[in-house]
Amino acid sequence: MLTKIIAETEIQKTKKYIDDVDNIVIVTHISPDGDAIGSSLGLYHFLLEMDKQVNVIVPNDFPGFLKWMNGTHDIIIHEKNPQIAEETISAAELIFCLDFNLLKRIEKVGVLVERSKAKKVLIDHHLGAENFCNITMSYPQISSTSEMIFRFICRMGFFEYINLSAAECIYAGMMTDTGAFTFNSNNSEIYYIIGELIKKGIDKDKIYTQVYNTSSIDRLKLQGYALYEKMKVFPEYKTTLIDLSQQELDRFNYKKGDVEGLVNIPLSSSDIIFSALIKEENGFVKISLRSKGNFPCNQFATEYFNGGGHFNAAGGEYYGSFKNAIKHFEKVLPQYKELLLKN
Ligand code: 5GP
Ligand code: MN
Repeated sequence: MLTKIIAETEIQKTKKYIDDVDNIVIVTHISPDGDAIGSSLGLYHFLLEMDKQVNVIVPNDFPGFLKWMNGTHDIIIHEKNPQIAEETISAAELIFCLDFNLLKRIEKVGVLVERSKAKKVLIDHHLGAENFCNITMSYPQISSTSEMIFRFICRMGFFEYINLSAAECIYAGMMTDTGAFTFNSNNSEIYYIIGELIKKGIDKDKIYTQVYNTSSIDRLKLQGYALYEKMKVFPEYKTTLIDLSQQELDRFNYKKGDVEGLVNIPLSSSDIIFSALIKEENGFVKISLRSKGNFPCNQFATEYFNGGGHFNAAGGEYYGSFKNAIKHFEKVLPQYKELLLKN
């Protein structure tokens, strides 16, 4: 049995919303990751089983290693099909907002959601949810939005309606947001849920391979280059920084998802507790941050890189040149010295 973490009123009100409508839209955050796509498609397959008309809309494309999931080819990508996305959102009677806490995390889709007269339900596990929905299920203590989707469906009494496709997507999201159950994953109920998903027929080992063992040779070489040539070590801060310019990415025929997981690798050293990756892509400068233990990546991202996220995994952006972003990081790092050395 699962603990009833999500409030009963939130479950019952949302159930009523679902009962009352036919046309439902699911939206998730920019640069969708495994949990964003997994939770969205998990809910999508469930709602299809309930005979609803459902569409999933994402702001931009997502990595190839997520495209094995059933339903990925039906996802509407706003950046590629803005008009279809706009029409679909304006026709929706109910909108689910999954795996993000702030409207700005869905970029241009945010205006469309804000403008829509549909009922809106947020299901998310990031700290500090903005109040833009009729119902806000915000539970940062749950390690993935996909796990929340499983709990939400079961609490409505609809476990039977979780089909194999939904189960696979939910599992993929739970797995990716916990680094294949290597962090944020000490809650025993996670493993109860995995047991239930296995009963639905998922092949968890195959899902691992489909997500993690699909690198191109270019991607492997880019990783090797990044670690060998581009990783700066700041031993006095137990920190590493990898920076990759557009030119460097181009050299390795960069494709979306090729640096996914790269920022975690330096943490496999016992000497490192904070790892950063600064990347220049299509004129934007993005930063990814990861930590072990008590170092708050989200605080660092909010304070210095216009971002946010989780305690041990956060990100942001820099409004300036790639070179200045690197300088900025190196300049502000010493201000966190005390916290870094306390670990
Ligand atoms: P990643 O490093 O994988 O891009 O992002 C890790 C986590 O940091 C995401 O799951 C998200 O919670 C958060 N994050 C990444 N980029 C941003 C950003 O630009 N703004 C905010 N608020 N959060 C971000
Ligand atoms: Mn998530």
